[in-house]
Amino acid sequence: MNISHLRKNLNLEEVGQGMYQLIQRLYPICRSITGNGVRETLDIIKEYIPLEVHEVPTGTKVFDWSVPKEWNIRDAYVKDSNGARIIDFKKSNLHVVNYSTPVKKTMSIEDLKAHIHTLPEYPDWIPYRTTYYKEDWGFCLSYNQFLALKDKEYEVCIDSTLEDGHLTYGECFLHGEKEDEFLISCHICHPSLCNDNLSGIALATYLGKYLHKLSLGYSYRFLFIPGTIGSITWLALNEKRALRIKHGLVVACVGDSGKTTYKKCRQGNAEIDDAVIRVLKESGVDHEIIDFFPYGYDERQYCSPGFNLPVGSLMRTPNGRYSEYHTSADNLDFVRPEFITDSFSKYLAVLDIIENNKKYINQNPKCEPQLGKRGLYEQSGGQSGNVVSQLALLWVLNLSDGEYSLLDVSNRSGEKFDSIKLAADRLLECGLLKEAEKEFPA
Ligand code: ZN
Repeated sequence: MNISHLRKNLNLEEVGQGMYQLIQRLYPICRSITGNGVRETLDIIKEYIPLEVHEVPTGTKVFDWSVPKEWNIRDAYVKDSNGARIIDFKKSNLHVVNYSTPVKKTMSIEDLKAHIHTLPEYPDWIPYRTTYYKEDWGFCLSYNQFLALKDKEYEVCIDSTLEDGHLTYGECFLHGEKEDEFLISCHICHPSLCNDNLSGIALATYLGKYLHKLSLGYSYRFLFIPGTIGSITWLALNEKRALRIKHGLVVACVGDSGKTTYKKCRQGNAEIDDAVIRVLKESGVDHEIIDFFPYGYDERQYCSPGFNLPVGSLMRTPNGRYSEYHTSADNLDFVRPEFITDSFSKYLAVLDIIENNKKYINQNPKCEPQLGKRGLYEQSGGQSGNVVSQLALLWVLNLSDGEYSLLDVSNRSGEKFDSIKLAADRLLECGLLKEAEKEFPA
């Protein structure tokens, strides 16, 4: 079975429920760029796909960076004068600034306030803050919680460790016919946040789960890595292997109700760009295409000038463009099974195009071949389902000179890719088309 067959036979509702359940399972875990939350997350993903877990020691040089100390946290709270936990890590892991150094002391309200972050414009939401590269500590509170702080002194505890250890990431490699690779990359470093970032993890995991059973043209590499430092680490340790990446997508923010957004790769006209744009166009619903810019997720590293890989990012509402972004409101209600399912089916459609985007040569290039005697001419109208489009046949015949790929034919003709692919299959069957010689590197 290949991706085209899978797309026809898949029960998408079941896939959506499965992805949403995975999000629910991963939601309570306190993840960060290193530490046991990442390991626990990868252990769960391992139940779905074959995953190799890598541990890179603190201090490892990775280009201009080095792998940071490992952070772990057991508990954190602020207690009032009655001994009540008025801020409690166990209620929400967003309450602690991610990567906070350990603290245990009684302090004045003034001293505590210097370490508190709130969002006055959304008084019920807890912000998400990090301090990866500067040793510091802090608490994040809803603004209403903050207003309720009336005592003069508080007992403050962050039971964390920041020590030499490892950066942990997961890698799943699926062999295809070719050595050339398709990269699917997602970050795994956010604590209880759903759209950014559990939706991406769930979608990537389910893609791996289904692709794992298929016969594949390309080889597929799935990376589950901490944002920024994870992709930098992978690229530094796999510089040569990275050259095999011929297409790639960074998966993030794929579960919200917003329209689908595609951020092109730095090259801007790569096959992956064309394939995604084709899928969005054919979806018939509102979407947005944006040019590459050096901010966002790990496409920043894959598209750095020393690599310049054809890796774009297919999202719904991009990071920073929704008010729930990096707050406690990016929760299990903000992502819905139907939206992540829609994103999943778009990813599959993109992969289907890339897998089938071949070039052919018309074997009867002098004038049109007679389609009727080959049973390819429709006598009656009323076309439906699997009936090959006459116009698609003519376009494929006309543009199959070894230069145009099927995606090019689809783009130039305006015919759907599946229709062009079906026409090419029929023409191949009756010998009017031959696959163009593959180019081998000199
Ligand atoms: Zn984020």
